[in-house]
Amino acid sequence: MSKFSFSQDLGIDLGTSNTLVFMKNKGVVVREPSVVAKNIETGEIEAVGSTARNMIGRTPGSISVLRPMKDGVIADYDTTAVMLKYYMKRASRKRSMLAGKPNVIICVPSGITKVEERAVIDAAKQAGAKNAFPVAEPFAAAIGAGLPVWEPTGSMIVDIGGGTTEVAVISLGGIVTSKSIRVAGNSMDEAISQYIKKQYNLAIGERTAESIKMEIGTAGEVSEQSEMEIRGRDLLSGLPQTISITAVEIAGALNECVEAIVEAVKNTLEKTPPELSADVMDRGIVLSGGGALLKNLDQVISNKTEMPVFVTENPLDSVAVGTGMSLEYIKQFSSHPNISSQATLGD
Ligand code: ADP
Ligand code: MG
Repeated sequence: MSKFSFSQDLGIDLGTSNTLVFMKNKGVVVREPSVVAKNIETGEIEAVGSTARNMIGRTPGSISVLRPMKDGVIADYDTTAVMLKYYMKRASRKRSMLAGKPNVIICVPSGITKVEERAVIDAAKQAGAKNAFPVAEPFAAAIGAGLPVWEPTGSMIVDIGGGTTEVAVISLGGIVTSKSIRVAGNSMDEAISQYIKKQYNLAIGERTAESIKMEIGTAGEVSEQSEMEIRGRDLLSGLPQTISITAVEIAGALNECVEAIVEAVKNTLEKTPPELSADVMDRGIVLSGGGALLKNLDQVISNKTEMPVFVTENPLDSVAVGTGMSLEYIKQFSSHPNISSQATLGD
């Protein structure tokens, strides 16, 4: 038996929209938006996380609000490292002083290049990790959602985040088929903004678009007649204006994104070996990620694929919980530094 305790190590979900840090026996200890506000004159960090997020669209010229992750990968290396350091420090308040630098398991999208993966690992080390091990995001999501990933049975996970939707079929601890598309929560927000601009000549901010999606956004046909009052800037008069929009309109605006997600699921099923797709048919498709919370999305996917579809219990947490549960295997990773390229961690 090793005399080391790994209980103080961290699992990190470095997402396009949100970053979560998981600690064994403590659960999710940090849950913050992946946003950093920087003073562009002094280069100083003004705020990180939800404080920075509240500044979006409301900053003076001297402050720039950055999202260092784009489509699941690092777009701004230095800012990502600063943000990770801040969150790891926050998590370390819950760790014992004696624990030293933590080992970290951090998720990366399944379609990532080696160079992009290296950047994530280096950023985690720069942020204070002793060692950092990558785990494929859909694999972590599947573990976190409680799917039997190690068994000889096909499990399908669809993780819908901010930047990307990752679809994967997993069996015997490895990813058998997967697909990643750049259509997810952010594209839904953009589709809503575009619709309102075109239909009403009204410019709205991204926070407003997101809240419309969360409040009245629905996939597929809408039966209930809910409405929402929104404010924006009239593009003709330049003045603030309030309008009322309906759930039916928003469902129409979201249609293209929903179709793209359905197509990605269908494509993955088509590429899946028959025994495994039969398992998926029996057990159903599991949705995770914040985008899984879009109303009626599970129903639409179910209708279009003729398979049962479930949303996992805490879709925003599943990847973080999965990275945390992967900490159990960290000893294997340390003795096999190349294991990330082998089946255990997916492609
Ligand atoms: P990432 O892994 O990319 O950081 P998350 O899994 O944290 O993303 O999900 C964030 C996305 O989920 C955002 O686009 C957000 O708007 C969306 N989201 C969160 N809650 C809801 C909801 N109730 N309905 C629809 N979308 C939601
Ligand atoms: Mg995610």
